[in-house]
Amino acid sequence: MKEKKDFNISRRSFLKISAGAAALTGVSLPKTAFARTEEQLSTLIDLSLCNGCADRQKPACVGACKAINKDKIPQVVGNIPEPWPRKTIEDWSKKQDVANRLTPYNFIYVHKAQIEGKTIFVPRRCMHCDNPACATICPFSANSKKKNGAVVIDQDLCFGGAKCKDVCPWEIPQRQSGVGIYLHVLPDFMGNGVMYKCDLCNDRLKEGKLPGCVEACPRQALLIGPRKEIEKIADQRARAMNGYIYGKTENGGTATLYVSPVSFELINKTIDKKPGQPNMKPQIVRRMAATDPLAKAVLAAPALGLAAAGALNWFSRRKELVKKEEKNNG
Ligand code: SF4
Ligand code: SF4
Ligand code: SF4
Repeated sequence: MKEKKDFNISRRSFLKISAGAAALTGVSLPKTAFARTEEQLSTLIDLSLCNGCADRQKPACVGACKAINKDKIPQVVGNIPEPWPRKTIEDWSKKQDVANRLTPYNFIYVHKAQIEGKTIFVPRRCMHCDNPACATICPFSANSKKKNGAVVIDQDLCFGGAKCKDVCPWEIPQRQSGVGIYLHVLPDFMGNGVMYKCDLCNDRLKEGKLPGCVEACPRQALLIGPRKEIEKIADQRARAMNGYIYGKTENGGTATLYVSPVSFELINKTIDKKPGQPNMKPQIVRRMAATDPLAKAVLAAPALGLAAAGALNWFSRRKELVKKEEKNNG
């Protein structure tokens, strides 16, 4: 029988998850859970366990994510032309070490909330929403929701228009100018670049590995597992700490659940909300209607026109080049 390999998390990884969950909640995940390869996964982020890795230079989750994704962003070209229709070049290539906010080189960071003399550490990354407007709006279908729950931007198809960021209530995707498909089809527009964000380590999941941040967390503040099991653990932990859950209903529901002993209203009120450092507003609503094919079509038309023009241009230049080479070769 052909083995399905979609996200068959390894036994070693599973044991790590089970042991962590059992030790911390008294609940053990069923051993068959990960054998169901098409199952939807969910992540739990337990703020009562995260200490921000205060004893390290950089939080372990952030370090692991950076290491895993370091080769994902191609080399940036020298002179980046202004993006169109916006005028701002977003070039993070010389600030790759920035770790205290989301950037195209940093898909997770740890936000801090000072509440009644205590610091609450809040790891932030894409929530992997159930009905992600960021994917619905993408005119090139470069952004999609996978069966395992991951929302993934295909960097080879992304034209960096940042519509995904505009409709994300947390403005998670981040742009790097001067990279991507434009270099081939529309070099004059490469300032638009490519959007980057956490992809739930989808490639690692396919290989049966845990997401890097989950594997690296020394306090098992991050867990991943079958959605129903994770929801059960989140409910149990929230009850046990008389606490709160975030992510169940926000933006129409997400595949990331936070549990916290402190209310998310208070966390949201306290944290700095700046570019790359999103809000934590409870009950936040989806910015786009569930089905908005018209908006998508309207957005797609000029973009597709440009892309088609660019592709034609690229092909005709290549044709010229081939002709010249043939002539030179006699
Ligand atoms: S989630 Fe884990 S690895 Fe990340 S800052 Fe918190 S304790 Fe450290
Ligand atoms: S958090 Fe934002 S970027 Fe991530 S899936 Fe949801 S809408 Fe998309
Ligand atoms: S799941 Fe992977 S890509 Fe996402 S924050 Fe964790 S390590 Fe980074």
